[in-house]
Amino acid sequence: MNRAGPAGGRMIRMAFQSLSIVLVLMSFSALADETARVLEEIREVSYTRHWQEAQAMLDELAGEVAGFPLRQQVEFHLLEARHLSLDDRNHQALARVDEVLALPIDDDQRLRTLQLAANVAVLLRSYEAAFEYLLDALTVKEDVQDPEAVIGTFNMAGYMFGRVGEHDRAASYGERAVEMTLELGDLNRECVARQRLAPIYKWAGRAERSESEYRRAIERCGQVGNSLFVGVLKHGLADQLRKLGRFEEARDLVGESIRLLEESVFPLGEYEARLVQAEVLHDLGDEEAWAAQDLNDLLDYFRERDLWDQIARLEALLSARAEAAGYPQQALEHLQRHLQARERFLGRDRTMLLAYLEVEFDTRLKDQQIELLAESARVARVEQQAAEQQRRARTAILLLSAALLILLLIMLLGALRGRRHFRYLSRHDPLSGLANQGWFLQRAEAVLDKARQQGGGVCLVMADIDHFKRINDRYGHLVGDGVIGQAARRLRESFGDEALIGRVGGEEFGILMPTEAMDDVLRGIERFQQGGRPSGRATDPHFTLSFGVACLQKGDSLSQLRTRADQALYEAKRTGRDRYVIDSQKAAGAGPAPV
Ligand code: GH3
Ligand code: MG
Ligand code: MG
Repeated sequence: MNRAGPAGGRMIRMAFQSLSIVLVLMSFSALADETARVLEEIREVSYTRHWQEAQAMLDELAGEVAGFPLRQQVEFHLLEARHLSLDDRNHQALARVDEVLALPIDDDQRLRTLQLAANVAVLLRSYEAAFEYLLDALTVKEDVQDPEAVIGTFNMAGYMFGRVGEHDRAASYGERAVEMTLELGDLNRECVARQRLAPIYKWAGRAERSESEYRRAIERCGQVGNSLFVGVLKHGLADQLRKLGRFEEARDLVGESIRLLEESVFPLGEYEARLVQAEVLHDLGDEEAWAAQDLNDLLDYFRERDLWDQIARLEALLSARAEAAGYPQQALEHLQRHLQARERFLGRDRTMLLAYLEVEFDTRLKDQQIELLAESARVARVEQQAAEQQRRARTAILLLSAALLILLLIMLLGALRGRRHFRYLSRHDPLSGLANQGWFLQRAEAVLDKARQQGGGVCLVMADIDHFKRINDRYGHLVGDGVIGQAARRLRESFGDEALIGRVGGEEFGILMPTEAMDDVLRGIERFQQGGRPSGRATDPHFTLSFGVACLQKGDSLSQLRTRADQALYEAKRTGRDRYVIDSQKAAGAGPAPV
């Protein structure tokens, strides 16, 4: 026997579970499809055949409604509400519709519900509510794909704006509804849309257009077998023709209308048609066709429903008949009741207009508020942008300032360095790197001052390259320059950092030493002389210096000191060069070159 292991068993169980879930889901969606199809059928019956027949079909489904998907539940309730309204139970219809509006329904269903709500509210003469439903619908409309719902909304808008005397607006909505049905090529909807449009022209006083529209609507509704609408349209047209004085045509039409509306079981329509018939027959002088009792039945029907327009028209008719029959008192009473009813009817129209204006005003106010809000939002945005720009500008300025500061610092440093460099150049001799004559003399004065103030000796050595002219002549000036540089370097090495050394002439140097000890000075000279051994290189000519030494005496000025050192130097030159001579005032005798 082949048995599946525990793992295999689990797999099979899981497969069965998934399969059963899929089957349940499929049956659910099949059920939803089936329900949708049945409801569509009922709807068809409701609009094209008879609403009572449709209601009977709904009643059969009533037990199952709770199990329907939301869409179908809503569909069911909307049909019910329509039937309640057709059955003159408008309060119940509106309650049903309000329940539906509280549900989380799709936009297309919401739109159809709002439409129905507006319709029922008009029938209940809750005009403010009606306009609110309508304007709500006109805003929802933008988001809805379902053309039927949009067409219905336009129809409703056409009717309601027409009733409050906004004829152009009404006609434009009505015409748009018809256009949409033409685009769809849907004759059923075209019938409904034209049925709504025709009376709009009548109210607007556009008799010709109204008649042609009534005729087209009758033709279209006839084609699709909507006898209820054909009935309504025929007494509407009859009323229009009667006003134009075409009584025979009107009489025939209204007769057909009554027959159709009786068949369709639409009492309100039927009674309105009967009223038109009574008026037409009166116009034709055919009083006998209408017994007084029949008219009183009509009157009761309209009174029960507060239909003041119809009551006023009936009272006028009754008054005329009483007068013709020779009952002036009755005629007067009817006339008074006619006037009262008319007043109430006009009052109702005024209420409707007021309601419209109020809602319209609210809407405009809302629009203005929205505009205001949008404007303040825009201002806030602009302010925010400005603040952002300001912030950016500040940052930019800050960065720029920082950059400028850095640049300035760099320039300042450069300038300082430049200044130091120029000062150096202005104080030094570029060839030897020694202090130039000016700087040497300046510093020498300072050293002398210090020595005078603090005590302590100072000796000045003047040194001059021997036979330098010859070196230049033999080796050229460049080599001569090199010799000046070498002499300077060797002087620095020989006299050390303590000594102040300057190039005070072409090939002449001054060495100032802050010392009283002549030995210090002579050691420097000797170190120089010992460092001047010939190198043997042709480009490195041998040279010697002669030195004149003088030390500071009390009361000496720098120039006196220098004069004495110069004299000593002259003496060294005169006595053979490459030697030093000490100023005679300090120490007698000249030192021979310790070569
Ligand atoms: P003495 O021993 O008597 O000092 O003879 P001397 O030839 O050195 O003296 P003199 O004063 O006759 O000549 C100095 C020469 O030094 C003249 C001048 O051409 C040269 N001289 C001055 N300054 C420079 C310089 O910067 N470079 C060069 N190459 N020669 C210079
Ligand atoms: Mg010389
Ligand atoms: Mg010289």
